[in-house]
Amino acid sequence: MTTVRLRQSDYEAIVAHARNSLPCEACGLIAGKADDGVKTVEKVYLLSNTDNSPEHFSIDPKEQLTAVKDMRANGFVLLGNFHSHPSTPARLSAEDIRLAHDGKASYLVLSLAEEIPVLKAFGVIGGEAGQQTLEIF
Ligand SMILES: [Zn+2]
Repeated sequence: MTTVRLRQSDYEAIVAHARNSLPCEACGLIAGKADDGVKTVEKVYLLSNTDNSPEHFSIDPKEQLTAVKDMRANGFVLLGNFHSHPSTPARLSAEDIRLAHDGKASYLVLSLAEEIPVLKAFGVIGGEAGQQTLEIF
């Protein structure tokens, strides 16, 4: 069972990025340290959705490259990514699962469908999404 630990300030940064990106989906990367099934997010990268769509996203490849270099410089590992669902629940869509190729990554989905945002973390192995424990601290 994987646990993803996310600081309150990083959670708030993701929510703000998602709200600023409305009506489109927002996206980004999460990086930090992984230790025995516990992933601690040390840095969140708020990146551009080049699809400019309310229903899907593609992370800007140039921004992704810059973020990965920054992770290396800081000694962080890529833990996964996040994206928002402006009007649907916090679960991976069939398309999200189809595009989730990294069995070790955590895929975070933030739903803005209700007034109070809902953030959930998932792992995807063999086309099956399994929810991970998300701890905001
Ligand atoms: Zn999605």
